[in-house]
Amino acid sequence: MDTLNKLRTQIDQVDRQLLQLLAQRLELVKQVGEVKHQQGLPIYVPEREAEMLNARRAEAETLGVSADLIEDVLRRIMRESYARENQFGFKTVNPAIKKIVIVGGGGKLGSLFARYFTLSGYYVEILEQQDWQSADKILNETDAIVVSVPIAKTVETIKRLKPYLTDNMLLVDLTSVKRAPLQAMLDVHAGAVLGLHPMFGPDIASMAKQVIVRCDGRFESRYQWLITQIQIWGAKFYQVEATEHDHSMTYVQALRHFSTFANGLHLSKQPVQLANLLALSSPIYRLELAMIGRLFAQDAELYADIILDKPENLAVIESLKQSYEESLAFFTHGDKQAFIDSFEQVKQWFGEYSEQFLKESRQLLQQANDYRQI
Ligand code: NAD
Repeated sequence: MDTLNKLRTQIDQVDRQLLQLLAQRLELVKQVGEVKHQQGLPIYVPEREAEMLNARRAEAETLGVSADLIEDVLRRIMRESYARENQFGFKTVNPAIKKIVIVGGGGKLGSLFARYFTLSGYYVEILEQQDWQSADKILNETDAIVVSVPIAKTVETIKRLKPYLTDNMLLVDLTSVKRAPLQAMLDVHAGAVLGLHPMFGPDIASMAKQVIVRCDGRFESRYQWLITQIQIWGAKFYQVEATEHDHSMTYVQALRHFSTFANGLHLSKQPVQLANLLALSSPIYRLELAMIGRLFAQDAELYADIILDKPENLAVIESLKQSYEESLAFFTHGDKQAFIDSFEQVKQWFGEYSEQFLKESRQLLQQANDYRQI
């Protein structure tokens, strides 16, 4: 026991040294944040990150330390660092912008953007549903309007803005669907128009590495400042045509939210206790449960609007029902071979991605296991 205690004491000491080094590293990151803020440099620079990780991996191997271990540790530290780099705010890319109004800015996503604009030195006002009688005053001398209201209210809200719009204004929306809002903005406004869809929820710690879909509307040169501003926040843009975006969202959002909801609904009707399932869960089952459960901590209206957005969504969901029936039939008919054949076909379809996904998910599962408490 004595030897063990001595070794444990030494481990504690090394951990404390690690803590000191971490504090030192975070202090350096703070200084980097200050320099980036002054010079308007993006928070996330993929090349610098990749170069640094490769160098540390190689050095780790020469010390007999696993390269994956140092990469894991550094990635976690970098995540912390990105969140901290925000504290100085961001450079104002376009100081000529006097006022930005966020319609629905009291909501989850609107308030996130209001915070980032304010951190970037812009003057922001909010126009909420009860503020329309003061819309004249709020929208007066505004350079950019960002619409962030529930999907089902977006088009009517954009139409409602029409009397207040002047040609020099920039009109932007953050809606999770893009075709109808973009068309409505182009219809009511003769000036610059941009459709954005942030592919993240309001609970992010930092915009670093987050993706924002961009559907260009009109007069790109007049909103280039906004693109650059958001890139400084650390986000990456993915440019796509609005109809194509909405088509992909059938799969990325509508189908996924539906099947997650249906899984949750189904589970809630089973004679099981969640606590028991969790106690018996493997890391992957726990992650799957988490993916289902987290949906129910969010906004039912948002998911309903996403699924109801267009008939194509329901048609694809309908075909999911058929796939369930087809899959079940393999087993009700006791046709093991048909199941195996079908499995092989799907495997072919996933191709090289299935190996890649196996590798990626292994890392996630290891992390899920690290945090396991019960
Ligand atoms: P939310 O319900 O939190 O916020 C919407 C806000 O709009 C509320 O404050 C509400 O009072 C306000 N509002 C409603 N009607 C209004 C009106 N007529 N005039 C002015 N304000 C009005 O919803 P949210 O999650 O922030 O979503 C807002 C938009 O962001 C939606 O278009 C959604 O598709 C999009 N979006 C949300 C997420 C997300 O995860 N929450 C992610 C990406 C995109």
